[in-house]
Amino acid sequence: MSDAGIHSDEIHQIGAETIANPRLEEAYRSSTLRLFTHRLSSVSAFPGFERLREAGREAKRHVIENLDYYLGQFADNVEGNGGKVHWAATGDEVCKIVVDIVRKAAAKEVVKAKTMVGEEVELNHALEAAQIRPIETDLGEFIIQLAGERPAHIVGPAIHKTRDDVSDLFVKHIKAERTNVPEELTAIARRALREMFQKAGVGISGANFAVAETGTVVTVENEGNIRMCTTFPRVHIALVGIEKLIPRLADLGVFMRLLGRSGTGQKLTTYTSLLTGPRRAGEDGPEEMHVVMVDNGRTKSLADPKMREMLYCIRCGACLNTCPVYRKIGGHAYGWVYSGPIGALVTPEFIGIGQARELPFASSLCGACREVCPVKINIPDMLLHLRSEAQADAPRPSGGPIPERAAFKLWAWAMRHPFVYRLGARLARWGQSAIAQKGWIRRIPSYPISNWTKERDFPALASQSFRERWKRL
Ligand code: SF4
Repeated sequence: MSDAGIHSDEIHQIGAETIANPRLEEAYRSSTLRLFTHRLSSVSAFPGFERLREAGREAKRHVIENLDYYLGQFADNVEGNGGKVHWAATGDEVCKIVVDIVRKAAAKEVVKAKTMVGEEVELNHALEAAQIRPIETDLGEFIIQLAGERPAHIVGPAIHKTRDDVSDLFVKHIKAERTNVPEELTAIARRALREMFQKAGVGISGANFAVAETGTVVTVENEGNIRMCTTFPRVHIALVGIEKLIPRLADLGVFMRLLGRSGTGQKLTTYTSLLTGPRRAGEDGPEEMHVVMVDNGRTKSLADPKMREMLYCIRCGACLNTCPVYRKIGGHAYGWVYSGPIGALVTPEFIGIGQARELPFASSLCGACREVCPVKINIPDMLLHLRSEAQADAPRPSGGPIPERAAFKLWAWAMRHPFVYRLGARLARWGQSAIAQKGWIRRIPSYPISNWTKERDFPALASQSFRERWKRL
């Protein structure tokens, strides 16, 4: 890992920079809001969605609880179909396996479809170090490869780029004419990439699902580039996180309907490819198919009953789009390839809580992520668990600034004394009248609570408490 992990304070610094940059803030706000709204209308138009979520969750629970059995079944079936299975315990092992296959194929260039596992193990660095040129073919990945950045979102890696940003990159790196018309920008990328599919000797993809029953690698996409990466070159390598398994082909119908609706609000993504072995006589496709099964920290989560559920994730990105923290601070503040609520779980688990101790705290614990998760992962519960781990691993020397600690102590004491609490609430309601307008407090003048309104408005206290309203009923 080149510069993996984040330093404790980086999330605050990059988050603050994003908030202070109106262009970036607007890019995140509009993109996440659009995806969030699409999901909402797609889900509300599908009455059986709750039952589907239950079915998806149950299928994932079952496969993760019996992962050893299904891994064996999947591997046997891949080999039975003529593919080759490789097992990689670490990111370095993944890179070594891939570089060896590419060298054996005598390829100097590889075309890559979007793979979060590839990002996670920093495969491009390893390929470049071996004098092999990796070419990203997903439009978003192509853009961030030109920009030399990490993905800002697990579904839309370039979600933070405006059309003008993309145009700048194309002018600079591929000598394109300046334009900010989306169709023209797409056509430029298409022209640049098309010949690469024909030249490259190896295609690398990830996997959205891996069907144990048939040994099938399933990919879903909207651009068609994955299909070309996995069929044009002579050799196809699929990087598959071991949690991607689903038991049967029949389960795929459940996950396809969950994934499209949750991720982008689509009923179904445009292309779905089911890759079952290399080509047979009379077929198109690669002569060799290699499937690299990747652990890289996943068995650690599997062994921990408190974190195991994290492995149900189907990487739809819905929790990012709904998260008030992600929407504000953006994907890069999370410091690694996974961002948002699921990134706040995955990163500490995969790279160690010591390097990512701030991430579980980057949440308001509002529960919106759990509400939208297609497989109902209890993200807030696991964030709390990781917070305890972070505290046990490296307790904050002072437990927070003195005024903050004093405020929490006072609040805890007041909560144990109802009379004091009621009195305090009345005083606060009376005190806020000077600064509240139309139900909102735009600026609290006194430190440390002034921090609450530095970047956002604070809802004013209701004129009556819940208990007062209850009594009047
Ligand atoms: S945790 Fe749930 S909502 Fe978030 S990416 Fe994974 S499956 Fe989607």
